[in-house]
Amino acid sequence: MATEYQRVTGAVMVADDAYRVLRVNPAFTELTGFPAALLAGSPSADLYLRQSDQDHAIERAALDAEAIWSGQVSLKKADGSIIKVMQTTVATTIEDEGRCHYIHIIEPLDSASGSYDQNTHLPDRRMFKEILTQELENAKRKHFQIGVLFIDVDNFKVINDSLGYVKGDQLLGEMAQRLKKLLRGNDLIASVGGNRFAVLLTDLVHAEDATIVIMKLMHALESGFDIDGQDVVITVSIGIVIFPGDGDDSEELLHHAEHSMYSVKADGGNNYQFFKASIQSSAVNRLSLESEMRKAIERREFVLHYQPQINTISGHVIGMEALIRWQHPERGMVAPFHFIQIAEETGMIVSIGDWVMHEACRQTKAWHDAGLIDLKVAVNLSARQFSDRHLLDRIAQVLAVSRLDPAYLELEITESMVMRDIENTIALLEKIAAMGPSLSIDDFGTGYSSLSYLKRFPINKLKIDKSFIDDVIISDDDAKIVEAIIGLSHNLKLNVICEGVEDADQFGWLQERQCNEIQGYYFSKPLLAAEFEAFVRSRNACF
Ligand code: C2E
Ligand code: MG
Ligand code: MG
Repeated sequence: MATEYQRVTGAVMVADDAYRVLRVNPAFTELTGFPAALLAGSPSADLYLRQSDQDHAIERAALDAEAIWSGQVSLKKADGSIIKVMQTTVATTIEDEGRCHYIHIIEPLDSASGSYDQNTHLPDRRMFKEILTQELENAKRKHFQIGVLFIDVDNFKVINDSLGYVKGDQLLGEMAQRLKKLLRGNDLIASVGGNRFAVLLTDLVHAEDATIVIMKLMHALESGFDIDGQDVVITVSIGIVIFPGDGDDSEELLHHAEHSMYSVKADGGNNYQFFKASIQSSAVNRLSLESEMRKAIERREFVLHYQPQINTISGHVIGMEALIRWQHPERGMVAPFHFIQIAEETGMIVSIGDWVMHEACRQTKAWHDAGLIDLKVAVNLSARQFSDRHLLDRIAQVLAVSRLDPAYLELEITESMVMRDIENTIALLEKIAAMGPSLSIDDFGTGYSSLSYLKRFPINKLKIDKSFIDDVIISDDDAKIVEAIIGLSHNLKLNVICEGVEDADQFGWLQERQCNEIQGYYFSKPLLAAEFEAFVRSRNACF
C-alpha cells in the first residue's frame, strides 16, 4: 500500500500503538520542517508542546469510545517555533498486523481555510471559541449566565461506514441546518470537528433552561433524515456546562462540556448531562447542596417570586402565589424542583418554609399599606411542615409579626397530605381556619381524593393541576376532567383556580366554563416583588 495518506493534501502523521511515529507524508515535512527519516521511531509526544494530562485523557477517552478525536494542539517545528493546529486522530486496526495505528490529520489553524466549517457551513471551533470568549466578558459584566452544549453524534463511525463518507457529510450538513433553525437569534451553533457540534446559549435565566433547549434539539432529531432515499435516524450525546460555575474561560468550558459528553457516551449515549452532574443526581453534589442550603437562609440567598392570580370575570389581579427561588452564588437561580425535595428529606424545609411564610406575609402587608388593598397571598406548605407539631404556633407567630390581616393568607396543601390521616387532618385544618387563613388544595386531580371527605374539609379552593390544562383544548378526556372539577367545586361552594394557563384558547375555554381564577404564563410568569407590583398597578388600573 503506497499509502493513501501520502496523497492527502494536508499533513499526516501515523503512529503505532505505542505512540511511536511510523511515517509522515510530505505535507507534514513541509509544515514542520522535520524529514520523515528523522522522525521514524521517535515518540509522537515529542512533536507536541506538552499536552496537559486532561487533554490527553480526553483524547484517549475519545479514541477508545469512538475511534476518532479532534481538537486543537500545539505542534513543534524543526526551527523550534510552535504552531497551533487542528488535529483529527483516527484509530484504525491494521489488518495484516492486527495492531492499532493512529492516523493524525493536521490542519494549520491560521491557514486560509477561514473560520467556517466547509461541510456544515457553520462557524468552526476557532470562531466558536472567539465568540464564546467575548460572550463570557459580556456575561461577567452583566451578570448573565451562559450555557455551552457539546454535542456528539452517537455511533457516527458506523453510520459513516455504512453510508460512505460523502453521505455521512451530507447527513451532518442537514443535521446542522435543522439544529440551527431551532435556536434563538443570539445563540450560536458551530462545528467543532468531525461529527461534533457546540452550541452557545447566551443570556440564560435559569441553568435548567438549557435542558429546554436540549429537549428541543433531541426532539428535532427524532424524525430521521432522508439521505438519498435512505431514512437515517441518529441520536446524540450532549454535555453541558454553565458559566459561571463550570469553568473560567472558553477553553476550560469546552473541555468540561466534552468531558460530560463522554460520561453520557459511557452510559450508552442518547442523553445529556450537566458538568459535575449539576444540580441533580450526583451524591457529592447533593451533599454540597445540602450544606450550602443550611447557610442559604442567613446568607439571604432565598427570594420569593410572585405569580399573579387573575379573576376571570373582572380581569383583576386578586392575589398571588409566593414561589421560592434560590439565588445561588455559583449555580445561579435554582428552581424549587432542584432543592425542595432535599429540603423536605433533611427537614430543612421547616425553617425554609417558615422564612417563606414570614417573607410572603411581610411583603403582602407592605403592599396593603401601599394601597394594593385586596391582594391575597398563597403560600405552599410541604408535607413535613404540615406534620410539624409547631405548625399552628408558627402560623400564629407569622401573623402576629407581619400584622397581615389573616384573611389574606392562603395556605396551599396537596391531596396526598390531607388524605393520610383524615380525622386528625380535619381537626388541624379547622384550627388553621379558625385563626383566619384560608386553605386550598394544590395540584388537584393528580392525587386521589375521596369526594365524601372533601366535603368535610374546611377548604376554600381547588387548584386544578397544570397537566390537565396543557391539553384541555385537544384532549376530550382532560376537558371532561376539568369540566367535572369545575362543576364539583361550584357544587361544594368552593372557588376554583386553574394553574399553568399558557394561551388565549385555554383561557377562553376556562372562562366559558366559569372557572373563577386563572394563574399561568398567559398572564404572567412568577415575578420579582417590584415587577409584580408594577404588573398589578397597570393591570388593575385598566379594568
Ligand atoms: P406549584 O405550587 O404547583 O406551583 C406552580 C408551578 O407552576 C410554579 O413552578 C410556577 O412557576 C409554574 N407555572 C405557573 N404557571 C405556569 C405556566 O403557565 N406554564 C408553566 N410551564 N409553568 C407554570 P415553580 O415556581 O418552579 O414551583 C414548582 C413547585 O415547587 C411548586 O408547584 C411547589 O410545589 C414547590 N414550591 C415552590 N415554592 C415553594 C415554597 O415556598 N414552599 C414549598 N414547600 N414548595 C414550594
Ligand atoms: Mg402551589
Ligand atoms: Mg400546583
